[in-house]
Amino acid sequence: MKDKNKNFHYPENPKQIKFPIYAGQLSGRNLFPAVTHFISAKRTTLAEKLEKRYGKGIELTSSGSAALVLALAFSGAGPGKEVIFSSFSCPNVIDAVLQSGASPVFANLDDDLSLSFEDVKNKVSERTCAVILTHVYGRKENMKLIEWAKEKRIRVIDDAAQAMFTKQAGTFAGGLGDFGILSFGPSKPLSSIGGGALIARKEVLEKNGRLPMEQRKQVNADYYAYMRQQRIQVLMRSRTLSFLLRKMGVQTSMKTSKLEVLPKTPATVPLLRMHPVRQAMIEYQLSKMERLVKDSSRNLETAKCIFAQAEELYGIKMIQPQEGESLNYLTIVFPHEGQRYDCSAYLAAKGIQTCWNYLPLHLIPLYQPYSRQEDEHSLWKRVLSLPFKPPLGTEQVKYIAETVLAYAEQKNKK
Ligand SMILES: *Cc1c(COP(=O)(O)O)cnc(C)c1O
Repeated sequence: MKDKNKNFHYPENPKQIKFPIYAGQLSGRNLFPAVTHFISAKRTTLAEKLEKRYGKGIELTSSGSAALVLALAFSGAGPGKEVIFSSFSCPNVIDAVLQSGASPVFANLDDDLSLSFEDVKNKVSERTCAVILTHVYGRKENMKLIEWAKEKRIRVIDDAAQAMFTKQAGTFAGGLGDFGILSFGPSKPLSSIGGGALIARKEVLEKNGRLPMEQRKQVNADYYAYMRQQRIQVLMRSRTLSFLLRKMGVQTSMKTSKLEVLPKTPATVPLLRMHPVRQAMIEYQLSKMERLVKDSSRNLETAKCIFAQAEELYGIKMIQPQEGESLNYLTIVFPHEGQRYDCSAYLAAKGIQTCWNYLPLHLIPLYQPYSRQEDEHSLWKRVLSLPFKPPLGTEQVKYIAETVLAYAEQKNKK
């Protein structure tokens, strides 16, 4: 890894970003009702709402990772056991497996980005206790794999941190397996201050004692960190203000992805119950999601038309949502490696933030010891995620997609 930037990082932090990849939802007008809840969060019904949505029991946790560690414990994960999942994912997944004490086993994805049933069958052993489905970019998973696992008495953990609004087999993602995971972190479909949920049969959850409650001051800290980020985004959207800030020599820059800093040690998370104030804020946002999901999918439709042209002319493909899928990223796939670095540098200069999801876990030095295979997928070197979520509207998404076309055009001329 000599030249980190060119190998797998997006270009240096763009300094003037007008189009951030992660949407803001707690900002502006929307903030005030949330603050009202914030002050009088005596009783929330978030757990009940989610129980209805999935027809199962819900344990609200301080983070999605905490829910995943719990699901793994319920699945019998521990020393001497193995857990199978894709390495094309964020470090949270492998860190949770390591925290459980089990050994991570990587399996490939199929072309539609679902976990490969074939490869899981290659990797299964008598030590396998669970398979984690991660719904890459919000995509659906393979139902045959789930049925097979059931017969084999291998637990299926349906990690819907990236896919809370994707529907499959008559249920929202998270409801497919023995256990489901939701995350309410800022980069997730319901972008909030953080928090998580474990979905499981009520009898299973009841067997576990109550978790200790997280501290209120942690909720406050997460809230203020989130609002700070939101305020920066609002400032950046204002032309006059960003001009003034530039004149004063203030650079609004954003740290945008976990790719930027490679983990040196696996993270361990505390296993805590969600504070009612956090619940109240997430519940408020959940009530607003229908509209946001609709606007996001309309924005994807807008991009689709422009990328149809990009595919025909330059071979740049957009990952299209299939029936029932609500994607968490607008991701394009370049025909050649190296184009994504060029293109993300080109876009950064125009104020458009991008994200390289994901650097495969088995290529991160910390997790290399768990790699048993060659890197069979070249996909990771060719994918680039673009901003598309509200508050961005049709015009802005059009501009972003057309800027990618402009990049391809000038590149082709050379
Ligand atoms: C983000 C994420 C998690 C962890 O959620 P946190 O709330 O950030 O702890 C777990 N699994 C997947 C697939 C994720 O994307």
